[in-house]
This record gives sequence, structure tokens and C-alpha cells, in this order.
Amino acid sequence: MQVLKFGGTSVGSAQRIKEVAALIDNGKQKVVVLSAMTGTTNALVEIANYLYKKNLDGANEKIALLEKNYFQVVDELLATEKGKALGIELVKSHFNHLRSFTREPINLYDEKDILAQGELLSTTLMQFYLEEKQIKSHLISALNFMRIDKFGEPDDFYIKENLNREIKQLGESYLIITQGFICRNAYGKIDNLQRGGSDYSATLIGAALEVDEVQIWTDIDGVHTNDPRIVENTHAISELSFDEAAELAYFGAKILHPTCVTPAKIANIPVRIKNTLDPAAPGTLITSNCTKKRVRAIAAKDGITAIKIKSGRMLMAHGFLRKVFEIFEAYKTSIDMITTSEVGVSVSIDDAKFLDEIVDDLKKYGTVDIDSDQVIICVVGDLIADNKGIAASIFNALKEVPLRMISYGGSNHNISVLVKAEYKKTALVALSQNLFND
Ligand code: ADP
Ligand code: ASP
Ligand code: MG
Repeated sequence: MQVLKFGGTSVGSAQRIKEVAALIDNGKQKVVVLSAMTGTTNALVEIANYLYKKNLDGANEKIALLEKNYFQVVDELLATEKGKALGIELVKSHFNHLRSFTREPINLYDEKDILAQGELLSTTLMQFYLEEKQIKSHLISALNFMRIDKFGEPDDFYIKENLNREIKQLGESYLIITQGFICRNAYGKIDNLQRGGSDYSATLIGAALEVDEVQIWTDIDGVHTNDPRIVENTHAISELSFDEAAELAYFGAKILHPTCVTPAKIANIPVRIKNTLDPAAPGTLITSNCTKKRVRAIAAKDGITAIKIKSGRMLMAHGFLRKVFEIFEAYKTSIDMITTSEVGVSVSIDDAKFLDEIVDDLKKYGTVDIDSDQVIICVVGDLIADNKGIAASIFNALKEVPLRMISYGGSNHNISVLVKAEYKKTALVALSQNLFND
């Protein structure tokens, strides 16, 4: 069995949905995980924002516009009278559901419900199309098996039990369709696995079913050596280790959800990245036993804040770092990078929601300086200390870029530096030119 996940662009129009249907109809047993059609989740976020601001006209206008697009998709996707009628009914019911939120102020639960409509629509439209084409398939709702616990972490046991039960009930089944991204939380309410979370759904499903392979089908021919939106002449990497892929995903390579590699790594299930627009391209294969390469790829993570706590008197006293970390823990704020010296410690965070509170508490232990609008630039590869000269090449490449923090040795796969956002492009381009001009 395999899991195949198709992202927003891959199901972004009636034509694309038809192409995906042709790709998945090959007699092999599989679970197909779909994202919302491209642009839909963003539009739903906007609708929720209008509703939070009590701008009902704005919300209604946006709902009507999106609904119109879906009527168009139905018209192009489904050919028969019956299919078109079913499609129209489906779209009406989801958009009436959205309109039901325009009656009173929305809360966080309502927002999650609003955001879930995109995946519910795309999967049902795919199922209607497959039925029309007489391709035997079953649609199962991710809301029946995908669940996060009260800390927001996937509930692996629940997922495994309930997904296997759902599939068993189907009897003989080769093609199963389900939604990415959406889930229920510990209280049974509709929730999600964060933006881009369909990748995570795919690997969680893959691990729960112990499949042979998880395939992530997207709009590019694999994981590239650098962010192709910023740097020219990047190319697809044929193989990556789980650890390298995890570092790239966590440090900003948008192609993969930050934590989606973990379930595949734990279950040792290969993950293959494929291009829906060019299915014959080999893509990227992520496994535990790929060949090693000194420098594999570069990624960047935006929106970082650096915090420096200076306290000559206390730093070397035992327990100081624990006290500092406890403050971040109290505000559920995770630290990405850390560097220490005799007189101070610098950390970087990507979630500045509780920055004021954190800084207030840190002031008990020393003076605090903040640098916002920073970017982590992360070089990934086989970076064990024995591999001489890599750090020298990286810093030589970055000689024109002021570096706020440097992190090396935390893992064998990652050297990271923190730079001001204005230097991001210069740093990415310089690293690409210096490290990949082989
Ligand atoms: P999907 O909708 O299929 O989940 P995403 O937009 O989430 O697709 O991810 C694919 C996009 O990620 C690509 O179109 C590309 O612009 C961007 N991207 C950023 N970094 C990388 C990288 N290192 N390799 C490939 N794509 C990347
Ligand atoms: N539709 C969701 C999003 O846009 C999930 C995903 O595409 O992976 O974030
Ligand atoms: Mg994505």
C-alpha cells in the first residue's frame, strides 16, 4: 500500500483534478490525501478575518466570489446531469455552512471549522468525478481518524486504531480518498495540523498503515538545492536522508511541512517528492540510507527574533540557563538557535506572541536586547566535524553579510546563521554560488 498526497496546485482546477484522477487510477492499492484547491485556504482565512472584525459585507462578498469559482469547477469537472446536480448541491451546502458563521461573532473553533471546508470540498469533488468515471473509490473523512492531543501533537494511537477500523469497514478497497490538513482536537472539535499540514497528514497516515512509501505530489520536481522562489539555477536533489529533509523542512523549505518527516523517519517509510506537472521526473527520494553528500541544500526561515540576555554575574552560576529556558517554556515558545558566551546567552525564536512577557521575566536575570526581523539561513548536508573546510566555505561565501548568530555542532546535518532579513537574498545567492558551483 502507498499514500499519495496531492497539494493545492495539483488539484487547483477541474483539469488538474482530472489529471490526478488519471494518475491514481492504476490498480495499485493506495490512500490519496488531498489538499484544498490552491487559493482556497487563503480565501477561507480572509473570510475568517473579516468575520473576526465583524465586517459581514467583506465576508459575504468573499464567500460569494469563492462559491462562484466552485460552481465553475463543478461545471467543468462533472459531465452528467446527475454529477452536475450533486456538485452544485455540495457547493451550496458548504457555502451555506460558511454563511451560517456570519450571524454572530466567530470564535477559534468556528475559524477552524471555516478553514476545514477547502479539503472537505476538494475530496468530495474528486470522489464525484471518480464515481462519474466509474473508477471504484471510497471517501473517508479525516475527521473520523485524524486527531491531535491537548498539546496539539498527533495522537498516534488514536489515529492508527481509527484509521484501520475505517478502512476495514470498506471491505475490498483499492482507492481510498481522504482530506489532508484537517483533524479533530482532544475535545472532539474540528482543528487542523497548521498551514501546509497536508504533508503531515500523509506521513501520519503512512505510519499508521505501515505503508511501503509516501509520495508527496506537488508543483515542482522535488526538493531543490535552494529556495527556487529566491535563487536562480537551483536544481532538484535526487536523494536526501530523513534528518536532512527534517532540517530543511523545519528551517523553511516550504515544499515540506516543518514536522512531516518525523512520522516517516520513525516508521522508516521512504518519502518520495514528485511533480504532478511532470510525473516522469524522478523527484526526490527521502530515506534512512542515502549516499552522503557534503552540502545538500540551503533553506531560510523568516520572521525570527533574536533575544540576548547579558549577565556576567550569573551566567556561569549553575542553574542560570535552566531559569532562562523555564521562562520560554512557561510561554510555550520554542527556541531555534542558541549561542552562549562568558557574559551572555543569545537565543532565537520564531513565535513572538509572548515576546513582551518573556522579556519582562528575563529582565530578572540580566539586561535584555531584542533584534527582530531576522532570518535563519541553514546549510544542510553531511556536516560532521571530520569533514574539514565546510565551515570555511560557508563563511567565505558570507563574507559580505553581517552575522548575528552562528550555530554549528548541534546536529551533524546543519550549520545555521542568523542574519537581518534585508541580507536574506544576498546570503542565499552567495551560498548557492559558492557551495554548488561544482
Ligand atoms: P503544495 O501546495 O503542493 O503543498 P507548496 O507550495 O506547499 O506545494 O510547496 C511547493 C513550493 O515550495 C514550490 O513551488 C517552491 O516554490 C517552494 N519551495 C521552497 N523551497 C523549496 C525547495 N528547497 N525545493 C523545492 N521547492 C521549494
Ligand atoms: N490547505 C492547507 C493550506 O493551504 C493545507 C495544505 O495545503 O497542506 O495550508
Ligand atoms: Mg505544501
